[in-house]
Amino acid sequence: MSRKRVLITGAAGFLGSHLCDRFIKEDFHVIAMDNLITGDLRNIEHLFKLENFEFYNHDVSKFVHIPGELHYILHFASPASPIDYLKIPIQTLKVGSLGTHNLLGLAKSKNARILVASTSEVYGDPAVHPQNEEYWGNVNPVGPRGVYDEAKRFQEAITMAYHTFHQLETRIVRIFNTYGPRMRLNDGRVLPAFIGQALRGEDLTIFGDGSQTRSFCYVDDLVEGIYRLLMSDYAYPVNVGNPDEITISEFAEEIIKLTGTTQKVVYKDLPVDDPKQRQPDITLAREILKWEPKISRSEGLAITYDYFKSLSKEQLYKEAHHKDFNKYTTK
Ligand code: UDP
Repeated sequence: MSRKRVLITGAAGFLGSHLCDRFIKEDFHVIAMDNLITGDLRNIEHLFKLENFEFYNHDVSKFVHIPGELHYILHFASPASPIDYLKIPIQTLKVGSLGTHNLLGLAKSKNARILVASTSEVYGDPAVHPQNEEYWGNVNPVGPRGVYDEAKRFQEAITMAYHTFHQLETRIVRIFNTYGPRMRLNDGRVLPAFIGQALRGEDLTIFGDGSQTRSFCYVDDLVEGIYRLLMSDYAYPVNVGNPDEITISEFAEEIIKLTGTTQKVVYKDLPVDDPKQRQPDITLAREILKWEPKISRSEGLAITYDYFKSLSKEQLYKEAHHKDFNKYTTK
C-alpha cells in the first residue's frame, strides 16, 4: 500500500521538526514546508536522506501548491515567542490568518484533514484557572502579544467556518508551554534563557517577582496528544499540555540545581501583558483522546539539558542574545 501523505508547515521549527520525526516513524510520506524565518534546517537535516521526506522553502502566507495527493495537513508555521512577535509582528499576523486560509483552501481542494496549531494564548491573561476549552479568554488585541493571540483566534474562527460551511475535516489543538530539544536558544523563552545563562555562567533573569506560573509539557508528550487528536473525530478545540504548574521562581531554582550553576537570579521588569498564571485543564483530552502527559519535569529537563550541553560554543554564545531583548523586557 502506498504511504499516506502529510504536509507539515513550520517543519524546521521546534514542534514542526518533532512532528516530522513522528510521522516518518509512522511511515508517512512527509512534505515539510518552512520559510526559515524562525525555523532552522539543522532540526530536520537528518531527514533529508530519506526517500519519504521532501522539503519546500516556502512562505504559506502566499499561495501553497502541492503536486499530487494529500491526506493530512498540520499547520505549525508561526513565530511563537513574545520576542519573535515583537521582531516580526506582521508576518505573525499573516501566517495565522492568510497562511491558515491558504492551507484550508488546499485541504478543501485535496479533500485532506487539517489540524491547526492554536495556543493557550487564546486565553490571554486568564481570569479562569485552570483554563478549560469553554473559557473565551482575556486578550488585549493591541498589546505586544495581540498580533499572535488575535491571529490564532482568527485561525480558530476560520477553521471552524471551513468545518461548518465546507464540511472540511478540521482539528484544533490549543498548545500550552512546551519544551525539549531543538528549542531555539535565543527565542526569549524562559527555558532556553535559563539553561543558556547557566551554561554561559551568567545570572538567571527572572521577569517580575517570579510569582507568575506556567505548566511545562515535554515535547514527546505533546506530539503524542497531537497525533491522537488528528486521528480522532473531534473538530472543536482541545487543550494539550501538562497541568503540573510551577512558579517561575521555583523553575529557576530547578534549573540552578540541574545545571549546578553558582550564578544567582536577577530580577527584570515584567513584560507587558505577561499572563500571571497558566495551567491547562486536560479533562477533555483525557476523555476524548485517552491521553495525558507521561514525562515528569525532572526527566524532561534532564534530556533537554543534555541537548543544550551538546551545542557548539559558537551556538551557545553567538546565537544566545536577541537584539530586541531589552525592548521586550522594558515596559
Ligand atoms: N521569563 C523570565 N525570564 C526569562 C524569560 C522569561 O522570567 O529570561 C518569564 C516570562 O516573563 C513569563 C514566563 O517566564 O512569565 C514564561 O515565558 P515564556 O516566554 O517562556 O512563555 P510565555 O510567556 O509565552 O508563556
